[in-house]
Amino acid sequence: MLTYEQARNKVIEEVGKRRGPSATTAVSVWDALGLVLAQQVKTDREYPPFDRSTRDGYAVRSKEAAPAAQLKCVGEIKAGDTVRESLAAGTCLQIMTGAAVPSGADAVVMIEQTSREGDLVRFERTAQPGQNIVPRGSEAFAAQTILTPGMRLGYAELALAAQVGAVQLECARRPRVAILSTGDEVVLIDETPGPFQIRNSNSVSLAAQVRIAGGEPVVLGNAADRIEDLGEKVERGLKEDVLVLSGGVSMGKYDLVESALKAMGAEFFFDAVAIRPGKPAVFGMCQGKPVFGLPGNPVSTMVTFELFVAPAIDLLGGAQARALPLVEARLAEALKEKSGLTHFLPARMEWRGGVAEVKALKWQGSGDIAALAKANCFLVVPADREKIEAGESVSVLLRKDVV
Ligand code: AMP
Ligand code: MG
Repeated sequence: MLTYEQARNKVIEEVGKRRGPSATTAVSVWDALGLVLAQQVKTDREYPPFDRSTRDGYAVRSKEAAPAAQLKCVGEIKAGDTVRESLAAGTCLQIMTGAAVPSGADAVVMIEQTSREGDLVRFERTAQPGQNIVPRGSEAFAAQTILTPGMRLGYAELALAAQVGAVQLECARRPRVAILSTGDEVVLIDETPGPFQIRNSNSVSLAAQVRIAGGEPVVLGNAADRIEDLGEKVERGLKEDVLVLSGGVSMGKYDLVESALKAMGAEFFFDAVAIRPGKPAVFGMCQGKPVFGLPGNPVSTMVTFELFVAPAIDLLGGAQARALPLVEARLAEALKEKSGLTHFLPARMEWRGGVAEVKALKWQGSGDIAALAKANCFLVVPADREKIEAGESVSVLLRKDVV
C-alpha cells in the first residue's frame, strides 16, 4: 500500500505528464484573484520611476547634515510634485514621503530627527549617504519581467500588475471538476431524508474544496449503487477535465465505482493508501481524464480531496502542484493511535505566546462532520507512532479555508 506522500506524488507524476496547454482567457485585474497567470507581465518603466523619499523630512547633502550644522530650508517637495531644480549647497528642502528627491541631495533626514527655527533646520545626528531614499530603478528596471506564466495571482501579484498598468491579464481557465456522489441512501440537500437516508453533503464540501483549489465545480448529482446508473453518470463526468466521485470504493457488495470505471476503460494507479481516514481512495486515468474515487464518509472525502485531488487541479490549471500546508506544533495532550496508517485527526491549533500548540478533538470517526467544523487543522500521526507524549513536536496539516 502506498504512503500518502507516494500516492500524492503518483497523482502529480501522472497528471503532470499528460496535461496539455491550458486554455486561457483575458481577465480584468479586479476579477483575477486566485487565477493562474498565463502570460508574462513586464514593467512599463523603472521602479521606482524616480529617487523616492521614504520619509517626511528634509532632503540634504549628507555631508552637510551634522549635529553642529544648520541648513536653510528653501522650499518643499510634495508627493507628485515635478522636481526640476537641484539642491543648492548649504540648503535643504522639506520633502514628503513618496516625493522625488532632487538632484544634489543624497539623503533624507526624518523630521523627527530635526528641529527648526524659521528657515533654519538643525540636525540631531550625522546623515548617511542614501538614507531614506529608494533609488530609481532599484525595485525593477524598465521592461523587466515581474510576473511569469504559472504564477498564482494573490493580492500582491495583482497589485504588482496594477502598478505597471497591466489591467487585463491572460489567465488559465479554471479546470472543470465533475463531482458525482454515489449511494442509494443519498438524497438531495433540500429533500427531507427518510429515516435511513442522508443528505448529499459531500457534493457541497467537494464543490467548496474545488473552488478553493482553483477549479470550477460541475455538480452532477448522485448515482445509485447500480452499475448502469454509475456508468451513465461517469460518462457524463468524463466530459469535464477531472472526475471526482464520492462513496462506493470500499469492500461492500454495493461498492461499484471501481468496476464502473474499469468498464469505461480506466487504468488505476492506486486503490488504497495507508491513511486513516481515507484508506480506500482510488486514482486512475479514464479516457485521458484523471478520475478520483474518494471514500464516502464525509471526513474521508475531505481529507483525500486535499491530499490527492487538489494537486491535480493545480496542474490542470497551469500551475505547479502547491505543497501541502504542513507546519510543526507542540502537542498539548498525549495521544494514542494504532500504528501502520498515517492518521489525520481533526484538531485545533492555537498560538500561545508565539508557540503553536495543537490538540486532537473528540470525534466519532470519519462520519463526524461536526468535529471537523470545530477543527482548524488535522493532526498528522505518522504510521510508525503509536503513542505521542504531550510536549512533543508534531506535524499539522492546516485547513487553509479557515486558518
Ligand atoms: P461509502 O464510501 O459509499 O461506503 O459510504 C461511507 C459512508 O459515507 C456511509 O455512511 C454513507 O452513507 C456516507 N456517504 C456516502 N456518500 C455520502 C454523501 N454524498 N454525503 C454524505 N455522506 C455520504
Ligand atoms: Mg456507498
